[in-house]
Amino acid sequence: MEIEIYSLPAEERKTKPHPSNLGFGQHFTDHMFLMNYTQDRGWDHPRIVPYQPIQLDPAALVLHYAQAVFEGLKAYHGQDGKIRLFRPDMNARRLNASAERLCMPTIEPDLFIEAVKTLVRLEKGWVPQAEGASLYIRPTMIATEPALGVRPALEYLFFIIASPVGAYYKEGFNPVKIMVTDKYVRAVPGGIGHTKAAANYAASLKAAQEAQTQGYSQVLWLDAREKRFVEEVGTMNIFFLFKEALVTPPLSGSILPGVTRDSVICLAREWGIEIQERPITINEILEGLEKGEVLEIFGTGTAAVISPVGLLHYKGKDYTINQGETGPLAERFFQEITGIQYGTRPDPSGWTVLVD
Ligand SMILES: *Cc1c(COP(=O)(O)O)cnc(C)c1O
Repeated sequence: MEIEIYSLPAEERKTKPHPSNLGFGQHFTDHMFLMNYTQDRGWDHPRIVPYQPIQLDPAALVLHYAQAVFEGLKAYHGQDGKIRLFRPDMNARRLNASAERLCMPTIEPDLFIEAVKTLVRLEKGWVPQAEGASLYIRPTMIATEPALGVRPALEYLFFIIASPVGAYYKEGFNPVKIMVTDKYVRAVPGGIGHTKAAANYAASLKAAQEAQTQGYSQVLWLDAREKRFVEEVGTMNIFFLFKEALVTPPLSGSILPGVTRDSVICLAREWGIEIQERPITINEILEGLEKGEVLEIFGTGTAAVISPVGLLHYKGKDYTINQGETGPLAERFFQEITGIQYGTRPDPSGWTVLVD
């Protein structure tokens, strides 16, 4: 399918924000990608148009029953002047897995990747060059059909918007304080926790807000049934470095299959680090911390890449990890993955895709 491009005349384009002041998701580029789905025509009319509000019928099914899924990936401006995407095929497949779970139509991965590339190519000037900065890309699918019956919609909109974002760690690679919640849960077995469904994030806000009020930056989620097994940290996957192995919870259905998680697992294998994907209880971790057997804890996700955890708060008690400092393994993963993303380290697995 040919992607039509309606580009904005140069004089109507926005002034770009100052690179030192980007923040996250506060500025949007000049254009966006759109594509419509109807039952008769399937996905149709892929196009790039000037960034603008979208019109929705107030009865659009997404507004009532939350048929909405999204993705998150980045374009990186390398020191060699090239722009790279990181494993966009995984985002394409995960979007389809999310869509299937919510009875939404899937998109050919090649078309998804072409749409991302075409938009980034047009918005090249928006990919920031400051160290650690990038262009965050947000592909999203919503149900647009106006109807109030609780059933899968017959019409959808897929759009991609892009936002220049600053370095996640402006003041260095700082460990975060995390509150383990045994009050709220993120996902239940058989639910939608393994998808990037918008509804998951609405459900998580209260826990994050309460944690932040108490001085913690995010929550660590436990399993919904027994509140014993560790699942994720905020909107990141989580890893524990024990003396003998690097451990992360398995993709059991309530955990989001992160691209960064997979990349960390692949690198650990290459580096000869013993890696275990297995259920792990909060007690095993807290005991491990007290005995000095848990050396590092870190979260993984596209936004931060690696987010070291310096402290866990559980049932009124604080547990410090690695004296609250970033550990060497977290640092090594961060340097390796960002090095591949910005083209300063070799990419033997072919993870990056050039936007030419
Ligand atoms: C997106 C997300 C992640 C991380 O996935 P990446 O592909 O590594 O960015 C982890 N957990 C949740 C809940 C997420 O939404």
